[in-house]
This record gives sequence, C-alpha cells and structure tokens, in this order.
Amino acid sequence: MPDLQQRLEAQRTRIAQAALRSGRAPEDVTLVAVTKGHPADRARAALDAGHPDLGESYVQEWRRKAAELAGWPVRWHFVGHLQSNKARALATGLTLLHSVDRTSLVEALERHVDGLLDVLVQVNVAAEDSKFGCPPDQAPALVRQLADSSMLRPRGLMTIAPQADDPEAVRPVFRGLRELRDRLRDDLADRPDVAETLTELSMGMSDDLEVAVEEGATIVRVGTAVFGPRPR
Ligand SMILES: *Cc1c(COP(=O)(O)O)cnc(C)c1O
Repeated sequence: MPDLQQRLEAQRTRIAQAALRSGRAPEDVTLVAVTKGHPADRARAALDAGHPDLGESYVQEWRRKAAELAGWPVRWHFVGHLQSNKARALATGLTLLHSVDRTSLVEALERHVDGLLDVLVQVNVAAEDSKFGCPPDQAPALVRQLADSSMLRPRGLMTIAPQADDPEAVRPVFRGLRELRDRLRDDLADRPDVAETLTELSMGMSDDLEVAVEEGATIVRVGTAVFGPRPR
C-alpha cells in the first residue's frame, strides 16, 4: 500500500488534472482529508506530511482527536450531521462547519459560539430521504438568517451526492449546487458583503471528486482514498 504522503499527493494530482480540464486553478480547490474512523496518529501523519485541513463527522470523536492534537496546526472541518444539543461542543476550534441545515441549529449555534464561525449550508440537492441537508428552496432563508447573525458567517454550500457506480451520474447534483450558489449570490444584491464571501462549494468525495471539481468544487472531502477503508 502506498504511504500516506503518496496517497495525499495522488489526490492533489486528481484535483489538479480536473481543475485544469475545466480551466480552473488547482490551488482554488482545498483538499480536506477526512479522518473520521481513524486514530489520531493517522491524523498526525497527515499533518506531518504537510496537510493541515482535516475533517471529522462525530462530535465526541472530533473533540477527542482535537485534544490529542492540541498544539498542532490543524484546520478542522466538521462535515457530519449536527444535533442542536451538541452545538456547544463546536463553540471553539473549528475552521469551517460544513453542515448547517436548519433554522433551529442556527439558533443553537448562535447561543453557544463565542467568536466568528464560518459555516456552509448543507443542501440535499438530490432530495434523498436518507440524507441530511435542507431542500434547495429553503437555502435562501437559511443564508439570510446566517447573514443576520452576529457570529456565524455563511461562506457557501455543501452537498453529499448519492452513491453511484458512475460518477457522471451525479454531475447534475454538483452542477445544481453551483447554480444554487450563483442564484443565492445574485439574490443578495442588498447585502454585497455577504454575497462577496458566499463562494465555497464543498462537494466531491473519494469516488467522484473529479466531476465535482469540474463542476466548481472549492473544497473536496476525501477519506477512503487517503487513509484507506475505515476500521470498523
Ligand atoms: C465520511 C465522509 C466523507 C469521506 O468519504 P470517503 O468516501 O471516505 O471519501 C466526506 N464527506 C462526508 C460528509 C463524510 O461523512
């Protein structure tokens, strides 16, 4: 099995090739290495390999790893579903929260966050019953709510595409997220400060990141292709 450094390098190459194919700059896409299910020493190895952006999905697992890696220059991304009663645990230490999908969660975060927090609105573009995320038609109101909040800053959108054997099958999902972001920005003409920074598109994982980057992803979240299968 190739070592971690090589696997990280391979993902950067995939991203760069897809970016260049679509006339984008490779450095406009951030690779988040998703460490969920892997021990802290794997996360530390990624940091050692010069990779600061790490992603986690479960609050307790993240807090534990964050404590173990205290003092390391990690940029933590929380990409999992978040219950409102866990909002307090996210009050400090996060670079980006990818999974804001409802009004009550925004309110809970507002009560607990004690500094500025960058967030993404998670959208269930494909309207899958099994997935979290707001329906696309609720995204404008959520972005407005975030724009009016004193601590939370809406920075863009996130989606999880359906499982598909052929990544081409999910291209319309990624395109839909990009078009939604563009519409949201257009609709924020009265809030140019918000429109200007509503730029991120967190989409694409191990199996479909090329298609996501071709459709405009600015952040891809990759676990398995970097760390191998998650131990059970
Ligand atoms: C686990 C997870 C990933 C990484 O998935 P892989 O298929 O292992 O690359 C990305 N995004 C989210 C939201 C996840 O929960």
